[in-house]
Amino acid sequence: MDTQLMSQLHVWDKVDDLEVIPGDKIEPAMSRTTREVPCLLKPATRETLIEVVSIARERKIRIYPVSLGKNWGYGAHLPVENDCVIVSLEKWKKIGPCDPQSGKIYIEPGVSQIELYNYLEENHPEFTFNVTGAGSDTSIIGNTLERGIGYYRSRANELHGLEVLTIDGEIIKQDPRLWHPSHPEGIGTGWEGLFFQSNFGIVLGGWFTLLPKQESTTFISIRNFDLDTLLDDFKALYRERILDEIVHIADPGRKIYVMKGLILKTQPNISEEQVEEVLEQFGSKKNFQGLTAIHGRKAVVKAAAKEIKKIISPSSTLDAFTPEKVKRVAGLTRKIPIRKIQNVGIFMESIQEILLLSNGNPTNIGHLSITMEGDNPNYADELAVYLNATLPPRENATSELRAMLEDKGYKYSITYIVNKDQAVSAIITLHFEVGESEKVQEALRTLTVALIEHGFPPYRAGIDQMKYLGMPDITRKLKDYFDPQHLIAPGRYT
Ligand SMILES: Cc1cc2nc3c(=O)[nH]c(=O)nc-3n(C[C@H](O)[C@H](O)[C@H](O)COP(=O)(O)OP(=O)(O)OC[C@H]3O[C@@H](n4cnc5c(N)ncnc54)[C@H](O)[C@@H]3O)c2cc1C
Repeated sequence: MDTQLMSQLHVWDKVDDLEVIPGDKIEPAMSRTTREVPCLLKPATRETLIEVVSIARERKIRIYPVSLGKNWGYGAHLPVENDCVIVSLEKWKKIGPCDPQSGKIYIEPGVSQIELYNYLEENHPEFTFNVTGAGSDTSIIGNTLERGIGYYRSRANELHGLEVLTIDGEIIKQDPRLWHPSHPEGIGTGWEGLFFQSNFGIVLGGWFTLLPKQESTTFISIRNFDLDTLLDDFKALYRERILDEIVHIADPGRKIYVMKGLILKTQPNISEEQVEEVLEQFGSKKNFQGLTAIHGRKAVVKAAAKEIKKIISPSSTLDAFTPEKVKRVAGLTRKIPIRKIQNVGIFMESIQEILLLSNGNPTNIGHLSITMEGDNPNYADELAVYLNATLPPRENATSELRAMLEDKGYKYSITYIVNKDQAVSAIITLHFEVGESEKVQEALRTLTVALIEHGFPPYRAGIDQMKYLGMPDITRKLKDYFDPQHLIAPGRYT
């Protein structure tokens, strides 16, 4: 580590309300990528953060702000470049005020999904929000600034009314005379987008969009052995406006892995043999499965679910079930002493928690897709990284993508996401054994370049991919304007 930097570390001792975690106590990331980090700072207040930024500016110390730093698969809390001091806003827990008329709530970066969920249940039970599958303790603001994807839609347009601290100590925010959460874009130049996937400032808080709870929910599962037919099914359902919410399509490999984990988590005493039977019975071993939900008035939801059958391919299998039905069937079928019927109960029991995500309930169930003991992906028993790719609507795009991964011999799984604009994205997980860190780095380099060359542009990147992106010149110009010494998150999307 830079010796000059080390010698400067004592400067933080004089700052009030600042917890300092030394560099050697900082957790690794899921890919075991490493960075030389002098320390991690946890300012408790806005004044403390302003002081930290002012010290960083005067002493030219590079800082890397995170909200909760759980950017798993993309580098977690670690900076893009070495010798950056991590500044975690995890102590910033303010929730509210809420503007129920416009369905917006003010939050700070340290607010996690489960904290917002609990707050709403207690204070505004008429609302829920667009949760991600990343886990209960991940942030709302950090994820949204990364344009994370929730179970309802992308979060890219769900945060407005930002307050941003720049390196010169200025706080940029909307003029309250000219802005109200009910018209979140405000008036004039749309500057707020500049602080998403960028490194121009530190976001101190903003107004997050809530979703009014609906009378009824129906979960929709559509399965097909052919991925392209399944994608066409969903695109048609969006075109016809029968579906509105995001669909997650798991490839067979990912599905088997997660389903096995779900069954064993909810029903640990079931034999390995019966787990295999359940997977076989529900076609999990061979087909692709898309999961989404319809929320709304009971009659409307029921009618929409009925229409789906008329639109999808005859080779697709549709299952539509309400949360109440899942619970009822899980209970009833377990009591009937016929193995095949009991398997239905085992399946229903195991999927309940994953379906909750579409209903706005944060859970850690997604962690089952990673091999690990406990609930902290930073200490997973495998090395895993995520790469994201946009799949253009051209023939063979999905098979080209899979061929690319198979050619290179990677152990991978893919979740495909389709949204109401019929856009398809792929979230690729690469799995490696512990000890294969070099292979991870090589794979990230090769694949980032190959994906771009093949016309599968990434829409989000991890810390070890940034240097291969070749971002446009304008980002550098904007960086020079907001942060001429490049002290905030150097190398991040620039
Ligand atoms: C099993 C599993 C499932 C996952 N599922 C999903 C999913 O469904 N959807 C999804 O989007 N992701 C998912 N992820 C990826 C990731 O874990 C989440 O995106 C997570 O929410 C990011 O961590 P965080 O919220 O703590 O954000 P942070 O790590 O705090 O922030 C992310 C980045 O944004 C920047 N940043 C954060 N806060 C600020 C700030 N205040 N000012 C300026 N810049 C800031 C930093 O560069 C930071 O590195 C998943 C990961 C795993 C392991």
